[in-house]
Amino acid sequence: MTTITTVTDAVSAVASLRATFDSGVTKKRHWREEQLRALRSMILDNENVLEAALLSDLGKSATEAQLTELGIVVGEITSALKNLGEWLSSERVRVPLAMMPARASIVSEPLGVALIIAPWNYPLMLALAPVVGALAAGNCVLLKPSELSPATSAALAALIPVYLDPTAVHVVEGAAKETGWLLEQRFDYIFYTGNGRVGRIVAAAAAANLTPVTLELGGKSPLYIDGTVDLEAAAQRIVWAKFLNAGQTCVAPDYILATATIQAALEAHIVAAIAGFYGGTPETSPDYGRIVNASHYERLVGYLTDGRIVADGECNPETRFIPPTVLADVSRDAPIMAEEIFGPILPMVTVEGVDDAIDFIARRDKPLALYVFSEDAAVRKAFLERTSSGAIDFNTAVMQLSIPALPFGGVGASGMGAYLGKGTFDTFSHRKAVLSKPLRPETLAFIFPPYTARKKNFIRGMLRRLS
Ligand code: NAD
Repeated sequence: MTTITTVTDAVSAVASLRATFDSGVTKKRHWREEQLRALRSMILDNENVLEAALLSDLGKSATEAQLTELGIVVGEITSALKNLGEWLSSERVRVPLAMMPARASIVSEPLGVALIIAPWNYPLMLALAPVVGALAAGNCVLLKPSELSPATSAALAALIPVYLDPTAVHVVEGAAKETGWLLEQRFDYIFYTGNGRVGRIVAAAAAANLTPVTLELGGKSPLYIDGTVDLEAAAQRIVWAKFLNAGQTCVAPDYILATATIQAALEAHIVAAIAGFYGGTPETSPDYGRIVNASHYERLVGYLTDGRIVADGECNPETRFIPPTVLADVSRDAPIMAEEIFGPILPMVTVEGVDDAIDFIARRDKPLALYVFSEDAAVRKAFLERTSSGAIDFNTAVMQLSIPALPFGGVGASGMGAYLGKGTFDTFSHRKAVLSKPLRPETLAFIFPPYTARKKNFIRGMLRRLS
């Protein structure tokens, strides 16, 4: 672990990573593969340690940890190792006839030293999935896990230097102060996941050095459901997606939009799905998580009176337990409808139909995800064409993350940039244009001065043919 207690420590941490990058070692393919294999070993050798850390930070069950954290990272590593050769090969592109003879191609080169700032809600996956792409692309990495998931942060700080090249990958633990010192440094890329308020701080710091950024942010992800679907099956998928990680998922359905009739019919199915998944007393279910800290717990408890209670139970401040809670007849301007909920409370807001729902969504920030439960092709088409969101899923929620070839990222207030699969490699790479043209025969004489009328006509004709 690299300890940072002053801004000077941040300066030297970045300088040492830059020295490693400048040595060229990280560009070698075998170094990249070695690091990816070592990262995979780190996870597989220490599954118990990492699962225990996630349990301690978020009450996360081992199965959920495998499904949503360790498994995703191992899958990303396996895919990177399998495809690295192809990702690194140069891509030939067509040369227009008038420019012949010549060879043109695109090569991916590493950017340099990348800063990765992770949040607490999926503290392993959201820290390591970007690291996979950064290393595959040949960069040095400074990883800053979240202080709000201290057990996972400590586990990463302890394990990463043992498994990965300590001259190329540093883990810095800390909070806003330490991150602020890091952000004063010049990085070649900054990859931030978290809330939009800090996202703006990160973007402003990056702008000072013209450093490119990915901002993986959040916001309210709506879910629309109509009467054409099997409500029992839909309720199970909705309940799983909403109460996974106790609702602390950036792509969790934040609220439901439905007509009053559909809401009334859906309520019983949602209650049944909650009971089926977590039993009559979710507090004793090993599969149900806890709220990350007391301030988030207090914030969430404040929302519990914002609608008619359909499902709830006793909260427990000692263990920061909030039961799966569903609120119906929630008013459009209730406090719970103002900010991302990020907890196990599911409000239902009444709409008149598709147009009203689309209008409701379109008047707000562009969401990270939008979920539409409908078998009606016209309804699906209307949402696809008339709304903008990071992702749109039909008849499922959160599952877009299980398809590595789909870009994971937001649009507008929900973020900029996207990753997973090759997208992560591309994020941390520069696609460099390469052109090579023999000196003889000279085919470019027509662009050299003096510009005669003949040359002008020739160039005009050629440019029209080129475009
Ligand atoms: P957080 O509090 O852990 O903050 C994220 C990171 O920012 C941490 O590493 C933290 O140390 C750092 N940080 C906090 N304050 C800072 C400051 N003033 N200056 C510099 N750095 C600072 O996590 P969070 O923001 O509460 O995370 C939850 C949010 O993240 C939600 O909005 C959620 O939707 C979003 N999120 C988005 C994604 C995604 O992939 N798009 C994934 C997970 C979470």
